Amino acid sequence: MTGSSTRSVVIVGGGTAGWMAAAALARFLPPDHRIRLVESDAIGTIGVGEATIPALRIFNHMLGIDEDAFLRATQGTFKLGIEFAGWSGDGSRYTHAFGTIGRALGLVPFHHYWLRAGRPGSLWDHSAAAQAAAAGRFARDHGRPDLPSGIAWAFHFDAALYAAFLRRHAEAAGVERIEGRITGVERDGETGHIAAVHLEGDRRVAGDLFVDCSGFRSLLLGETLGTAFEDWSHHLPCDRAIAVPTARLDPLSPYTRATAHPAGWQWRIPLQHRTGNGIVYASAHLSDDEATARLLAGCNGAPLAEPRPLRFTTGRRRAAWVGNCVALGLAAGFMEPLESTSIHLVQSGIARLLEYWPGKTLADADIAAFNRRTEAEWLAIRDLLILHYHANARPEPFWQARRDAPPPDSLAERLALFRANGRILREGDELFTEVGWLQVLIGQGVQPLGHHALADAIPPADLADFLALARTHAAAVAARMPAHDAFIAAHCAAPVSK
Ligand code: FAD
Repeated sequence: MTGSSTRSVVIVGGGTAGWMAAAALARFLPPDHRIRLVESDAIGTIGVGEATIPALRIFNHMLGIDEDAFLRATQGTFKLGIEFAGWSGDGSRYTHAFGTIGRALGLVPFHHYWLRAGRPGSLWDHSAAAQAAAAGRFARDHGRPDLPSGIAWAFHFDAALYAAFLRRHAEAAGVERIEGRITGVERDGETGHIAAVHLEGDRRVAGDLFVDCSGFRSLLLGETLGTAFEDWSHHLPCDRAIAVPTARLDPLSPYTRATAHPAGWQWRIPLQHRTGNGIVYASAHLSDDEATARLLAGCNGAPLAEPRPLRFTTGRRRAAWVGNCVALGLAAGFMEPLESTSIHLVQSGIARLLEYWPGKTLADADIAAFNRRTEAEWLAIRDLLILHYHANARPEPFWQARRDAPPPDSLAERLALFRANGRILREGDELFTEVGWLQVLIGQGVQPLGHHALADAIPPADLADFLALARTHAAAVAARMPAHDAFIAAHCAAPVSK
């Protein structure tokens, strides 16, 4: 046999994961591949997942999606970072801003110079994205091509509209959509691989490779193949969420807000036609009624729909690829949306699937490499989420327990390195940059005792000038940007929804 052994691909599920996979596979697989997607309107999608990170721009770009058209179609807004409010006690706040902080000077990262100088001002005075976010400004270009702005951006969008947008894109690229509820899964008697899915109405959809995007149910990878679930709730005990939309808030802030509360946190996601709100909480510490009341009290404006409860267990399937089945999205696992990483994990899963796309045979070595790299990526994100909980300074029992719980060894090692000399460990395919880790470490109050010795090489007066220049530059970049609302109105305002 020549070419690929997997020319017939069946995607199970048409949520964000399913349609992202369909659009990307249709774009990159050779034309002799047949791609079908099965989804059930009666079951529907999870309907949340509206805040992203900058890597999504690469995904859109690879698919040839125009950024402004995408934002118009999804009622989207721009996102320069996440504001964390209350994580070191009520009234505290910091931003995990996208892009760089400060500028390169010598051999060591910027923050070592800032640490050496005794932390003048705030770390975020040196970040153009943080300055712009705080001022409610946004531009893709700050009008000075000779000076890099240092910002990166992501998006907020309406999850249902995004899936619909990708569906149009995928269908135009040749993906066949099959509507209907899957009632059974047929396995090959010899290999145990999935041979076909059976749909109500006596329909059978056979394939060579199955992409399980069936959501929390994990219909193929979990239910059919029995792949064990690795439960991470001892590290991340929040297990419920309630989501509710409220009216659009003006001005539109170019950031997601994550506000800590006595047993979890609450999100606020600004969209053009509404605001997405939700509360994430540990049911052992907060009842559903209390959570609903807290959510509604924390929203600016009256609800536009009934609050929607969601239950989850944090963790992942031990292997995302088993036999001829690869899971993406919630079917592969779930981590709370504190750093807006789930959609990114779908994206990186698709990129990795394409990287290891089967040749003449399904090779165990390819599958093992895919699974090893997937696990490493999930673990690094998990550790960043745990850091938010571990290094908190809130007084309530839930938060005290999180402080007292020992972090996983991998996080303990990162903390020790940072506390000693401000060093940040980043390995392999890790998603978050050093600057990302830095902001959460400093923002959550983790204090390094020292700094990198090479930062001592420049004279004190030069150091002061260098830091002042970085602050001036960040402020100037932000000041040149228009208001976020004005930028949207000029470039990507969506039609007013009725
Ligand atoms: P789903 O949307 O659940 O889709 C599952 C699909 O499978 C549906 O089409 C369904 O019809 C189909 N299906 C299931 N069973 C059958 C069957 N028997 N027959 C036929 N079809 C079937 N991610 C972010 O990146 N940013 C965020 O801000 C964010 N916030 C979140 C907040 C919460 C509270 C939660 C729970 C998740 C959040 N996520 C976020 C995660 C994000 O929502 C998901 O990663 C994303 O929507 C992908 O979901 P999915 O496509 O895997 O599953």
